[in-house]
Amino acid sequence: QARFTRPSSTRYIAVANQKGGVGKTTTTVNLAASFAKHGQRVLVVDMDPQGNASTALGAQHGNGEPSVYDVIEGRKTIAEAVQTCPDFEKLDVVPASINLSGAELEVADMPNRTDLLKTALDEYTKNAKPRYDYIFVDCPPSLGLLVINAMCAVTEMLIPIQAEYYALEGLGQLINTIGLVQEHYNPVLLVSTMLVTMYDRRTLLSKEVFDQVREHYPNIVLNTVIPRTVKISEAPSFAQSVVAYDPRGMGAISYGEAALEISRRSSQVLKTIEARRQGL
Ligand code: ADP
Ligand code: MG
Repeated sequence: QARFTRPSSTRYIAVANQKGGVGKTTTTVNLAASFAKHGQRVLVVDMDPQGNASTALGAQHGNGEPSVYDVIEGRKTIAEAVQTCPDFEKLDVVPASINLSGAELEVADMPNRTDLLKTALDEYTKNAKPRYDYIFVDCPPSLGLLVINAMCAVTEMLIPIQAEYYALEGLGQLINTIGLVQEHYNPVLLVSTMLVTMYDRRTLLSKEVFDQVREHYPNIVLNTVIPRTVKISEAPSFAQSVVAYDPRGMGAISYGEAALEISRRSSQVLKTIEARRQGL
């Protein structure tokens, strides 16, 4: 039986990679569900206009439903938009709606345009009781203003890497963007975690990708890899995480192990972030 201990303070984690289809949403949803299943209090903020994380967690996100779009544009607070996932009482979701795609342009001229999510999240979490243990922000596949808002609102980046031929292509650009955000907006931001997804044990390529990521980012990549499974890809069509849909399957087990690894790194990661804060 897995042992999870609560981190000493909230861990704020944006799940980002400008490539689409690498497993950002699947990772966000299933790590969040794994933590919630093991008694941790979790919030997922869906920053992708596609709303896939909202769907997979069973959140309502139709037209007229208060969403992160209203939050970003200051019409609603997070407290007004947040919903609880039907499968896990400790898992809350701020849903996204398709009109969020207009937000990048609509807020482009605002002086505080990079801090809209951070401001709303700070306001919400200072009153949230009990405090959240993990807050995940699921990012769209871009490096635009919504992603910058995510990077400014968190202290950690989690980068999912799909075990395929072009896996590391584009990673340099992502790391560059993170560097710019650190330089200009959020100096404490830490790339704390990488996770290899859609791993196929039968192929040499999967192992090569994992070895390569481990060589370049030895202390960042998790030892757990997420296998490619049919259940993982089916779960969203039942408006469920795979953790709820197929709790005994390899998908749920792997995400549970990844969550445990992330949990065990809490004190080290929080110490590093605090040291960065002190150094400013
Ligand atoms: P992103 O959010 O980066 O665009 P998704 O998490 O939506 O990526 O994943 C892209 C597609 O791949 C989705 O259809 C998802 O269900 C599927 N998928 C993700 N991870 C796995 C996996 N480990 N096994 C099988 N299918 C997966
Ligand atoms: Mg996604």
